Amino acid sequence: MHAMQLRRPGEPLIHTQMPDPEPGRGEVRLRVSACGVCRTDLHVVDGELPDPKLPVIPGHEIVGKIDAVGTGVEALRIGIRVGVPWLGSTCGVCAYCARDQENLCDRPLFTGYTRDGGYATHVVADARFVFPLPPDGDDVATAPLLCAGLIGWRSLRIAGEGRKLGLYGFGAAAHIIAQVARWQGRDVFAFTRPGDVAGQDFARKLGAGWAGASDAPPPEPLDCAIIFAPVGALVPAALKAVRKGGRVVCAGIHMSDIPSFPYRLLWEERQVVSVANLTRQDGKEFFDIAGEAGIVTETVRYDLAQANEALGDLRSGRLQGAAVLVP
Ligand SMILES: [Zn+2]
Ligand SMILES: [Zn+2]
Repeated sequence: MHAMQLRRPGEPLIHTQMPDPEPGRGEVRLRVSACGVCRTDLHVVDGELPDPKLPVIPGHEIVGKIDAVGTGVEALRIGIRVGVPWLGSTCGVCAYCARDQENLCDRPLFTGYTRDGGYATHVVADARFVFPLPPDGDDVATAPLLCAGLIGWRSLRIAGEGRKLGLYGFGAAAHIIAQVARWQGRDVFAFTRPGDVAGQDFARKLGAGWAGASDAPPPEPLDCAIIFAPVGALVPAALKAVRKGGRVVCAGIHMSDIPSFPYRLLWEERQVVSVANLTRQDGKEFFDIAGEAGIVTETVRYDLAQANEALGDLRSGRLQGAAVLVP
């Protein structure tokens, strides 16, 4: 198989050829047809997340067809179209797994971080954590749903039922979740980097009723806000934008430090919470509504060998929508 491999954080990925991996007990192997590029991949590559498996093949928005099945796998067979998400496996026995919080498992494995991911022609996955997908569908368009969509969905659920929703950072996740929120009948307020007029136009095109700079106040107080950009200074900005009792959800796995801010921004029962990982239940719910909500993803396609360019474009903010690698 071919893969783009991270040998050392901070260095470019290296195009590598290696023997096809064999699925072990309870595992399946996919022939990868598309793999989205998530901001978390950047955090892995840049060394902002501790203790990756090294070398590691990044990528956790994987769509492909099963081409080999390990022993003990009953529910999946060769030829099925599936998606592989960030949550690669859990221990199944810790206190979090026991109370339906498998996203917080004490001994998890994460695809493209602590087990090999989808920047490759083939990937092996734990069969229990793979999502079956409809047999026909656009693989490139589907890939971003596997993380930007799923984590975005979990974030939206945790933001609560508020009608006026702010989205900070209008990248891959926000462009999907804006569509879901509009479908639910919410009003979307999109915040981008100051001066990012193209990003603001893009947000309005996807249904945002207002789009502006992240340092500007919204035209009216928000019920809730989700921060997708990895920028800690957005936490006090979002707290300023939400009403009394409003909630601010931090959806990223990594963020720059949050600057100190006056207590009055949190006062009046405003809340700041974070969202970590996903559960299989989140995935099931999200894929149930994804079709109904009519989500259309905007993607920029790169060859597998161009993974470093895709990561560079994401890092610089040049991308609109989601980058997807095609092997
Ligand atoms: Zn566990
Ligand atoms: Zn991700």
